[in-house]
Amino acid sequence: MTDRADRRTALAAGLAEVEARIDAACASAGRARQDVALVVVTKTFPASDVILLRDLGVTDVGENKVQEAAAKSGAEAFAGLRLHLIGRLQSNKALAAGALADVVHSLDRERLIGPLARGRAGRAVQLGATEAGTLPVLLQISLDGDPSRGGVTAENLERLAEAVLASPLRLAGVMAVPPPGAEAGAAFATLAELAGRVRRLAPEATWISAGMSGDLETAVANGATHLRVGSAILGSRSPFR
Ligand SMILES: *Cc1c(COP(=O)(O)O)cnc(C)c1O
Repeated sequence: MTDRADRRTALAAGLAEVEARIDAACASAGRARQDVALVVVTKTFPASDVILLRDLGVTDVGENKVQEAAAKSGAEAFAGLRLHLIGRLQSNKALAAGALADVVHSLDRERLIGPLARGRAGRAVQLGATEAGTLPVLLQISLDGDPSRGGVTAENLERLAEAVLASPLRLAGVMAVPPPGAEAGAAFATLAELAGRVRRLAPEATWISAGMSGDLETAVANGATHLRVGSAILGSRSPFR
């Protein structure tokens, strides 16, 4: 077999394993499988992997860094896929992020709203406004109140939600990563409660982005609607890539 055929086989096996885990988690939580979306996190992996994943039926992929995503986008890797930006956004990358992403999971401060909306508006001009629509964003929440790793604190959540609601962006829901050392069940239960606070302001903001390779079952049990899974499908990430 060629290297590419080998890689396709490995990715297909990883996907099948994760799909089986999600099916089982939905069954034991009494949830419908179609209510949980899988975002395959392709950060650090090449555009060729993204293309293989699309051939295998993946519809949604996640990237952390705007620059890396832009490079893969230049290689046409995301054609026909929804690109989710899931990493912490630097203010000076927000304009490019708004132009590139189909969903942004990591809006955590008001300062990002203007450039994200302007980036999206620029793309709308390019694509035709109806095709581009509005950019769905999730509020990334800091579950331990330590802002150094990104995320809005619970006390500032409603204020940030109101600012998004007053903007051209579409408030779609919330996202979080459990703090280091935290128990995933407790972290995702807190996130579910905070998601409810956002829904009181914006009933249509129903998405909960939570759960990675190691804790997706716990996230499904706590109401996650979007799982962000990388290494369980693509293998471990090399720091040297
Ligand atoms: C890398 C990353 C993931 C995927 O993590 P895995 O453990 O590889 O599944 C999910 N969410 C965010 C924010 C990430 O940075």
